[in-house]
Amino acid sequence: MSPPETKSSPLTAPACGNEATPALRRPVTSLWSVGAERAAQLARLDVRTVEDLLLHRPRRYEDRRHFRKIAELTKDEPATARGTIVALGLKRFRGGSKSVFEIILDDGSARLLGRWWNLPFMEKYFAMGDEVFVYGKLSETKPRVMTHPETEVIEGGEESFIHINRIAPVYPLTEGLPQRWLRGLIWRTLERFEPKIVEPWPILTCCRHPAGRSEISSSGKMPEARCFPSRANAIHMTHFPEELADVEIARQRLALDEFIELQVQIRTRRKNFESHAMALPCGGDNRLIKPFLARLGFKLTDAQTKVLREIRKDMGGAHPMRRLLQGDVGSGKTAVAACTALMALESGFNVALMAPTEILAEQHFQNFKKWFEPLGVQVELQTGNRKTSNIQHPTSNIERTVDHASRITHHASLFIGTHALLTSGFDLPNLGLVVIDEQHKFGVAQREQLVRKGRYPHLLVMTATPIPRTLGLTLYGDLDVSVIDKLPAGRGQIKTFIRAADPAGAGPQVWKFIREKLAAGRQAYVVYPRVEESGEKGLKAVTKEFENLKTLLAPFRVGLLHGRLKSREKDKVMTEFRAGGVNALLATSLIEVGVDVPNATVMLVENAEAFGLAQLHQLRGRIGRGAHESYCILVSAAKTAGADERLKVLEESNNGFRIAETDLKLRGPGELLGQQQSGLPKFRFGNLADDLDLIQQARELAAKMA
Ligand code: ADP
Ligand code: MG
Repeated sequence: MSPPETKSSPLTAPACGNEATPALRRPVTSLWSVGAERAAQLARLDVRTVEDLLLHRPRRYEDRRHFRKIAELTKDEPATARGTIVALGLKRFRGGSKSVFEIILDDGSARLLGRWWNLPFMEKYFAMGDEVFVYGKLSETKPRVMTHPETEVIEGGEESFIHINRIAPVYPLTEGLPQRWLRGLIWRTLERFEPKIVEPWPILTCCRHPAGRSEISSSGKMPEARCFPSRANAIHMTHFPEELADVEIARQRLALDEFIELQVQIRTRRKNFESHAMALPCGGDNRLIKPFLARLGFKLTDAQTKVLREIRKDMGGAHPMRRLLQGDVGSGKTAVAACTALMALESGFNVALMAPTEILAEQHFQNFKKWFEPLGVQVELQTGNRKTSNIQHPTSNIERTVDHASRITHHASLFIGTHALLTSGFDLPNLGLVVIDEQHKFGVAQREQLVRKGRYPHLLVMTATPIPRTLGLTLYGDLDVSVIDKLPAGRGQIKTFIRAADPAGAGPQVWKFIREKLAAGRQAYVVYPRVEESGEKGLKAVTKEFENLKTLLAPFRVGLLHGRLKSREKDKVMTEFRAGGVNALLATSLIEVGVDVPNATVMLVENAEAFGLAQLHQLRGRIGRGAHESYCILVSAAKTAGADERLKVLEESNNGFRIAETDLKLRGPGELLGQQQSGLPKFRFGNLADDLDLIQQARELAAKMA
């Protein structure tokens, strides 16, 4: 479950036993023309070995077989032209502190001015009469100007064929590293090392096209595994494609290699785990679950029941459960967790339940106490700031529960906590089950740490849906997955509105609406992106708005909740809000996970543009939990149309999957999962937002290989 350790990569996979592979692991300094200075520059691009160099992916390609005439360049679309320098010069002003350098290119059709501000050293790269490639969009049309265009001086000589009259790769660079030099280096390195690139996965037998291209490239469909180009070919095509379409074919092959590598690791880890981890018998006997369900006050949905069947099978099985439970916000995961906990408790084992915030741990504590204490099960809370009992001395538990042969089981307890449960002082004996709520807020490393603790308890990881399939298969690839795919019936709808911000944020209409709802007895959340003003482009902060809102909403009572309050203060305001004594709660995104107050039906989010879509969906999940209609108002101070466009997805959809996929496409996995979620391997070629087909293929191939 930890990030893969990439001691070997597909290029050099030891499994291939290829003599040639060590050659690719050599440092770049072993290449002719790479000295210490160049090596240091390459290292800044994470290029240290020959292999890294061969996998250095071009940023874009330039078709240097066809040029745009300078006369035909536009303001809208970047294009490549070529011309001869007919004039150039550097002007300094403001006492030499500012400068502008300009060149004038002529290609016979028209003249183009290339202009660089405050980069006086550009002067030394150009000379009168040089022929130059220039890439960019016009910033002005009369005269034609490109500001800070990308350029490359065309040089003759025997290597010129690498750079001109072909599709030329354009690489990410670092200061001091010339494009042309790097391109030449990669060309020569390919010539020498391409024959030494091994096929890492024999299962991918390749049917090579004479040009090295895949047979069915033009169909636009994902090729069968055996129709991918060879790895060596793919690497070649990545740098020097014959046609632009080849680039994507090559990318898919190299992405497939990355995904297979990851899937093989996942399978190996899982197999190792299963071969030496024996399960504790936690199937239970319904003794506690029956009365629990009878008193619960609602009937489990079919979706919940189906998931519980899957879980029960694991809990009574030969290997410890490793299961991910996905269910959109409000789908009722807590009740499933409760039943799962009861199975272990019935079997005489302790259970630990972990939540990402103290507020949520506290809420679970309240709920579970209410549910479990009538059943004779003790529930204890341990957070960073609060301990309810003797869990520092859990030996008493061992004595009470270790003899499960004789079924003295009613003393097993449920421990609820935050990450604090993971800290070393706490080592719970006789732990049968660990439940992690809202997993997307836990780092992979934390999950790993927990699983390693002591013997192998069963593990249930719960998350509100937003894990697109691609991430499910990679980040969570070693977990079995259950999905609660239906919300409980009888929920009021959530209506979502996007409103442009007045200078002061939400306008008077919005506040009038909120006051009406409060007057009708409902409660509201008002969410701000920041705790304190930080001068960040007009982002609103709760502490600043608090006084304001007290006046604005008077006589209704307003509470304040954010991460910098003391635990006691947080508890107090949450308790008051739950009890209805506080009508409106001002909060940061701290409330995004788990909080469950069914009477709260209105949510106003200020600076909605500053949040991720998946995060807003989570926040919105705080309302629509009771039978009343709920309203989510997203106030956006976005200056760009794009940001509002993004928020529209929320107006249109209540589907967590769809929203998460959009978020993944727009912002990438790091943003979607939160910064802590650094357990994702870095893919050079794979794209988690788009490559579901490839990931699935990789998974199947890995299964065949194992
Ligand atoms: P989440 O999946 O987001 O953690 P919760 O477990 O907090 O959702 O459940 C949301 C609300 O739905 C809670 O108030 C819970 O009591 C209620 N609930 C759960 N299951 C059912 C059900 N089968 N029928 C009706 N209400 C339910
Ligand atoms: Mg929950």
